[in-house]
Amino acid sequence: KLVSREFHPDPTVVDVDGVKIGDGSLVVMAGPCAVESREQLLEAAQIVRAAGAQFLRGGAYKPRTSPYAFQGLEQEGLEYLAEARALTGLKVVTEVTNIHAIETVSRYADMLQIGARNMQNFHLLKEIGRSGKPVLLKRGLAATYDEWLHAAEYIVNEGNPNVVFCERGIRTFETYTRNTLDLGAIGVIKRLSHLPIIVDPSHGTGKWHMVKSMSMAAVAAGADGLMIEVHPDPERALSDGPQSLNPFNYASLMADVRELAVFL
Ligand code: PEP
Ligand code: MN
Repeated sequence: KLVSREFHPDPTVVDVDGVKIGDGSLVVMAGPCAVESREQLLEAAQIVRAAGAQFLRGGAYKPRTSPYAFQGLEQEGLEYLAEARALTGLKVVTEVTNIHAIETVSRYADMLQIGARNMQNFHLLKEIGRSGKPVLLKRGLAATYDEWLHAAEYIVNEGNPNVVFCERGIRTFETYTRNTLDLGAIGVIKRLSHLPIIVDPSHGTGKWHMVKSMSMAAVAAGADGLMIEVHPDPERALSDGPQSLNPFNYASLMADVRELAVFL
């Protein structure tokens, strides 16, 4: 298999327009769950830039459970992401939910995100594989490691080797947390694959007060990076407010993560 350690013993470093993922440094992708407005996104971008992220995240195409929930600003949201990049120098990572949007999203984003709900959308994986853009491949809602690795195989097999895994929690019997964050995934994926893996403790827990401790744990366990939801005013967020950090808590997380990284 192309993504396996047997095929490629050395770790792969994915280079996203100069930002390296998997080279031993810690990469942080932060920003709101959804791009809600120009003002909200530019404010969020400045907050995460100031605290020290490399990537701005934010969904323009949102895969929502309910059709009545906010669905995202789509192309308008992509334009705000591009504006925020120009303003801050942050790289942009944003989700592509269907094959028709790949070309448009590729024009604005530096990295394409495959969401948990699309991890086994094989047609989308193949098309993304043909696009050549770096890909952030989130773990499916109830995906085994084997299924997740095979999803990456679909992308790499089409000629795109720039895939980064993202552990974002899985569905278990527990209901207190939104998902059960599986930090064991870091060790397993690093043993079985040469591709980098980052951790998203925001979707992994669904609770803002757990995000810092799980970020620290992920870094200690060897994650190549973190994806963190940050909102200028979480209580007014149109999606995922309960798991989003406010500016103060995000800065506090980054300070603690930096301190921890000194020991690694
Ligand atoms: C997201 O990161 O915006 C998202 C929708 O996450 P997931 O696909 O992991 O649920
Ligand atoms: Mn979200």
